[in-house]
Amino acid sequence: MAWDVVVVGGGVAGLVAARDLAATGRDVLVLEGSPRIGGKLRSAEVAGLTVDVGAEAMLARRPEGVGLAAELGAEVVHPTAATSGLWSRGSLRELPRSLMGVPFDLDRLAASGVLSPEGLARAAAETATSPEILAADDVSVGDLVASRLGDEIVDRLVEPLLGGVYAGRARRISAAAAVPQLLAMARRGSLLEQVAAVPTSTAPVFASLPGGMGRLPALVREGGGFEVRTSATVRALRRTTNGWALTAGPTTDPETVEADAVVLATPAGPTARLLGEEVGGAAAELAEIEAASVAVVTLAFRAQDVPDALFERSGFLVPPVEQRTIKASTFSFAKWGWVRDLDADVVVLRTSLGRHGEEVTLQATDEGLVRVSMADLGTMAGITARPVDSHVQRWGGALPQYAVGHVDRVARIRAAVAQQRGLAVCGAAYDGVGIPAVIGSARRAVASVTRAE
Ligand SMILES: Cc1cc2nc3c(=O)[nH]c(=O)nc-3n(C[C@H](O)[C@H](O)[C@H](O)COP(=O)(O)OP(=O)(O)OC[C@H]3O[C@@H](n4cnc5c(N)ncnc54)[C@H](O)[C@@H]3O)c2cc1C
Repeated sequence: MAWDVVVVGGGVAGLVAARDLAATGRDVLVLEGSPRIGGKLRSAEVAGLTVDVGAEAMLARRPEGVGLAAELGAEVVHPTAATSGLWSRGSLRELPRSLMGVPFDLDRLAASGVLSPEGLARAAAETATSPEILAADDVSVGDLVASRLGDEIVDRLVEPLLGGVYAGRARRISAAAAVPQLLAMARRGSLLEQVAAVPTSTAPVFASLPGGMGRLPALVREGGGFEVRTSATVRALRRTTNGWALTAGPTTDPETVEADAVVLATPAGPTARLLGEEVGGAAAELAEIEAASVAVVTLAFRAQDVPDALFERSGFLVPPVEQRTIKASTFSFAKWGWVRDLDADVVVLRTSLGRHGEEVTLQATDEGLVRVSMADLGTMAGITARPVDSHVQRWGGALPQYAVGHVDRVARIRAAVAQQRGLAVCGAAYDGVGIPAVIGSARRAVASVTRAE
């Protein structure tokens, strides 16, 4: 039997694509290589409490994530009023509000103490963007901001913010792909003036599900009307007279699955390998997209062992210039009411480690990653007690790096794929790594597959 559509990859992109395709009456099969669906959305038990060990929030100011939750009849929750911190110049400080590092208010930036007096003076004396940068189609976020506001603001604000989302480096990541608003502002005039004029909103920035984002994959699957096979790695994709043939399963016992259409919802590397035979141009472009590996270390402490002041913070970021091992910590117990409600006597927090090009940080045992996390938390957050439990989740090659020129690269990939009837791609490699952007890319793939028929 040939399926109407086979979706390769059971992360959030693949599951949403499968659900939407099934809703049009098509017979849809998801082939997921690992033993479980969800990809980077995942929960695990720490000290008997089930918490997220992958993505833990979604942007609420884009419609796709919260909209999907509403479609699924799922309640969403927002972070508490706890504020974010930044470890800079030897202290844990208030993270000043900014548009990817460009401050909304210079006085608040000054009061935070994040920058040295010299760094602050350089930022305040905003200079014009160099003509080369203005003439370029794209530029790195770091080069763009440094050319206007100086290096220190990049090192101490832009780096940790981009490190949190992409696990990447500011001077490599594309402004056109990651913060197009900033590039447009730079072309129009002063960054400081335009960012200061952005209307402030009281709407919550982030959302999650009570119980965590790890619940989302099962909710999308439930009643979605599509079939899922796990432990079914797809190894080859080939055009047939009427559609596509996929080779799936273990190399020792492969299975051929036929479909009229295929949606590849896999990361850039596997997608490049699958497209290799049929769409060589797109495969070569995808193979150029590098990926960063990261790890999330979740720690559970007795509530009495955690300083009271930390309950006021949702966590903190650490700029690479500080040369610590962790790049961020999320105080899940303070950030999410649902985590605090799990057990009043246990507090759960997590650290994240790993930036693009710094894989050496992750070359340690799980105990080693817990140890370095504890050392940094001791210095930066004053937590010196031993955790009652810990969990280490490694995410190898998990975050695609949007290098300068990414937007054009994606346009070329999509144009090449669109030449193939019944083929589409989606996922974190294309239009944004955040959950709403990934859902958006899945819907775009569904539109292209259904339109082509
Ligand atoms: C630690 C971490 C924290 C994050 N935090 C946030 C956050 O708080 N908020 C946010 O918005 N985003 C966050 N992100 C990013 C976001 O979670 C991901 O970009 C998004 O979930 C990716 O979804 P996806 O479906 O594109 O890919 P994936 O989740 O990677 O799913 C792809 C699936 O394809 C499968 N697969 C791969 N190759 C094959 C093959 N050959 N055959 C069959 N199956 C295959 C994989 O096993 C996987 O299940 C985070 C990412 C990480 C790593």
